[in-house]
Amino acid sequence: MRGIYWPCRRWSAQLSGISMTKNLVGQKFGRLEVLERIGVRKYPTYQRTIWLCRCECGVEREFSQGQLTPTGSRSCGCLIKEAENKRSTKHGKRGSITYSSWHNMKQRCNNKRNLSFRWYGAIGVKVCPRWEESFESFLADMGERPSPAHSIDRIDPTLGYAPGNCRWATSKQQSRNTRKAVPLEIGGKKMFAADWADQVGISRRLITRRLRRGWSPERAISRPA
Ligand SMILES: [Zn+2]
Repeated sequence: MRGIYWPCRRWSAQLSGISMTKNLVGQKFGRLEVLERIGVRKYPTYQRTIWLCRCECGVEREFSQGQLTPTGSRSCGCLIKEAENKRSTKHGKRGSITYSSWHNMKQRCNNKRNLSFRWYGAIGVKVCPRWEESFESFLADMGERPSPAHSIDRIDPTLGYAPGNCRWATSKQQSRNTRKAVPLEIGGKKMFAADWADQVGISRRLITRRLRRGWSPERAISRPA
């Protein structure tokens, strides 16, 4: 039989009239499991066997035989979506907590209708142009926001939002670290309002509000809320 051979199995199969369609039912391709053969879809110049697959996420979708190979499809599309979400969160795109910090910072300083504007924009707190224009620059300077409990802390509260003057801090760290935070001395013991608040079980805000009204430190921390 030398000299008469077929260049590839498929040709030989077609010529010998044997269907080359492999039975893929039960096979797994990444997250996909082949459920059943749906049939053959005919295109103008070729045809494809179509298989119904179920993805691990629960979605059932049709795939052509050519897609179901060791290097072909791996999921219904959910894998790519997940990877995209991960990437966008990693880079802190819209929807990430870092992005919302950046967005809210700009709102406080620029948007007159923002509820906090009067504490920021209205008294001249500004966002530096580098951060104003680009979230990527903000992210490069600040890094990711470590947790939802962290917010942007201006180290010198008389200066605006700019690299060098900002860091991520929890609200407790902020109230202890800003220049405005002065330790309260009560009964010979010096602690920040936030620490007194923790100890006596009322809010730091209430303590500072009372102090602003002219209450003595003793009274401010000792009266119940
Ligand atoms: Zn899926």
